[in-house]
Amino acid sequence: MTTTRRRFLKVVGAGALGAGLDPGRLLGQAPAVGTRDVYDVAVVGAGVFGSWIAHELQQSGRRVVLIDAYGPGNARSSSGGQTRVIRMGYGDQELYSRWSLRSLEKWQELLRRAARPSFFQRSGVLWMARERDPLTVKTAATLEKLGVPHEKLERPELEARWPQIDFGPITWALYEPESGFLTAFHAVQAVAERARKLGCEVRTARVAPPPADAGRLAALATDRGAKVAAGAYVFACGPWLPKLFPDVLGERFFTSRQEVFYIGPPPGEERFRVGAIPVWADFGEEIYGVPDFKGRGFKVAPDRHGPPVDPDSLERVVTAETTRRVLEYVARRFPPLAASPVVGSEVCQYTNTSNGDFLIDRHPGLDDVWLVGGGSGHGFKHGPAIGEYVTARLEDGDAVDPRFSLATKATVQQRTVF
Ligand SMILES: Cc1cc2nc3c(=O)[nH]c(=O)nc-3n(C[C@H](O)[C@H](O)[C@H](O)COP(=O)(O)OP(=O)(O)OC[C@H]3O[C@@H](n4cnc5c(N)ncnc54)[C@H](O)[C@@H]3O)c2cc1C
Repeated sequence: MTTTRRRFLKVVGAGALGAGLDPGRLLGQAPAVGTRDVYDVAVVGAGVFGSWIAHELQQSGRRVVLIDAYGPGNARSSSGGQTRVIRMGYGDQELYSRWSLRSLEKWQELLRRAARPSFFQRSGVLWMARERDPLTVKTAATLEKLGVPHEKLERPELEARWPQIDFGPITWALYEPESGFLTAFHAVQAVAERARKLGCEVRTARVAPPPADAGRLAALATDRGAKVAAGAYVFACGPWLPKLFPDVLGERFFTSRQEVFYIGPPPGEERFRVGAIPVWADFGEEIYGVPDFKGRGFKVAPDRHGPPVDPDSLERVVTAETTRRVLEYVARRFPPLAASPVVGSEVCQYTNTSNGDFLIDRHPGLDDVWLVGGGSGHGFKHGPAIGEYVTARLEDGDAVDPRFSLATKATVQQRTVF
């Protein structure tokens, strides 16, 4: 794609566009019957990935349209939950630690500009570890190398700082004091709104699945018959990607059902609120949580992958079996909440790649189409870094890092990124 900044166009008949002309050459032509809109880039999907990509592209001077079937940060999307954790620790996966650092900077900058700094809460993040837990040991080494503030806390100190936690088999922990959580759907909507203020068009429409192997896409069709033409198309449709591109992603994405619970602390109990307890992760039991924010409940969520799901037919009601497991865990690890009720819940979906690395690559049969997704249960925090990365690839045309390429997305799951 050319790096020339193009002026907004709203012109022309289907013939010229169908011939794949550079939209910049169409300036000045008279509108014709069957008018279509022309953009530099059309981004489909306004979850955290698409919204940040649209924001970064628009900020770099592109003319962008952001299209979502239900609107930015909607309840069906993976980005549509109440909160998402932002941590710097990623074992020895240094790239993701670097992206987290960069992303937190950009999240804070955008939220400041949007006059919504409280959408990031610096609650701290506690990694609970057992003995020589390899993931936490590697995380400590990476944080040390990158100069990320962190503390190694032994059991007596953990008990003194957070007496409301029964640490059970946890022998030590790593604490990231500057990390925390984002108020997910509010934060995504703030990004889309900032993109709109910069000039990006934000539309609500469902885009029809593109033809499998046409060489170029040339135009999008919405399911209400409208056409949208652009120089490039970015599909950031999260768990819907395998439905839109079944030939390419049907066997490479693993969409799993994930349940989230909000536990209501007893009356007058303040030890589970932001400020009193950090975000915590107990990788040994594949479970994590977020402090109570604004009285919505103490979040507890199993991170183990649930059964495969279709985001359109997924029943968004928690199961009795997971409820029982979560309440049993809460009673054991957080004894003051032993008799506390579930006051809210969410059912969402992870879009997993085989090992947890994101997908950022061109479509193999459509030159002007990019596929961005595979958040794999940890992508939210990285929205800003992904936005920057995709914008740079559209600018320089360079190949993507192999870890993000379609070629490295296997058809058998073996998780290595946590
Ligand atoms: C329960 C849960 C907890 C998580 N916790 C964390 C966490 O703590 N920290 C973290 O960093 N990450 C976390 N994640 C992962 C993170 O939320 C996801 O990686 C991220 O939200 C993925 O965003 P996305 O933009 O790729 O997809 P989505 O948010 O799903 O967005 C895709 C969008 O595409 C739209 N769309 C789909 N098809 C079409 C179409 N045909 N036409 C138009 N629009 C379309 C949808 O409406 C949707 O809005 C969690 C995920 C879940 C489910």
